[in-house]
Amino acid sequence: MNEIRAFIAHHEDEVQVALYAILIISLWVSEIILAKNSLKSKWKHLRSNYLFILTGLPIQLFFTGFVVLIAAWTNLHHWGIINFIPYHNNPWVYYISLFLLLDLCEYTYHVIMHKTEFLWKFHLVHHSDLHVDVSTTLREHPCETAVRTCFLMLWVFLCGPMLSVLVLRQTFQSIANISAHTEFRLSERVNRVASWLFITPNLHHVHHHYQLPYTDRNYGDVLSIWDRLFGTYANLDREYTVFGIDTHMDEQQNSKFGNILKIPFQKFERPGNQQHV
Ligand SMILES: [Zn+2]
Ligand SMILES: [Zn+2]
Repeated sequence: MNEIRAFIAHHEDEVQVALYAILIISLWVSEIILAKNSLKSKWKHLRSNYLFILTGLPIQLFFTGFVVLIAAWTNLHHWGIINFIPYHNNPWVYYISLFLLLDLCEYTYHVIMHKTEFLWKFHLVHHSDLHVDVSTTLREHPCETAVRTCFLMLWVFLCGPMLSVLVLRQTFQSIANISAHTEFRLSERVNRVASWLFITPNLHHVHHHYQLPYTDRNYGDVLSIWDRLFGTYANLDREYTVFGIDTHMDEQQNSKFGNILKIPFQKFERPGNQQHV
């Protein structure tokens, strides 16, 4: 048992990547069996998304090293917002406060990606998937992966969490993100309760609707409370939800990995001069 614990402690990154791979693969297989999708169409869709692992993972792992260093520095110097929270020496206050702070940071990051014209060009790659399923979780332009991890360094520097908080948060965040992209939706009754606190698949599907204002709704990462608080919360029935983004609805263009990578560097206009900015 001790040997297993020691192995996990020394291979934290590898263990997390393996767990996410198992979760994504089992949900993907469930989407074929339970949602009665054809293997051919699912495989065709997967081909446009799975290569993002090869571009995203090395960048993610490279920058994670810096995140760890920053966390070690902030803890050594008692630096960060957490040190101003009353009773932060109590473990419950410490962990819950940092979870909330970091979730607010991720909400802010997502809003910045939508509202900054330059950064939106990279983030829209994630939105350009016309068939949202669990593999859409992987669809992130490598430049966005770099930007996201740089922002994470900033959030860690500002908040000052211990490494154990980051590992716990990362686990919650990955499970929440993977679940939010599945084809499986909660029943209306369960969603009504769960969405008071969490970003459910039903809520994240609204964020993947192809047109404003829904694209700019439900920015939350794990929790939905920030969307409720800042007025960006919205519901939309599945029957009215169309996945994609109105500037990039060409299936041929959106399904080839090479084409998708070029999207941020091509000129485009929003129909009807709608602006994200
Ligand atoms: Zn988005
Ligand atoms: Zn998404």
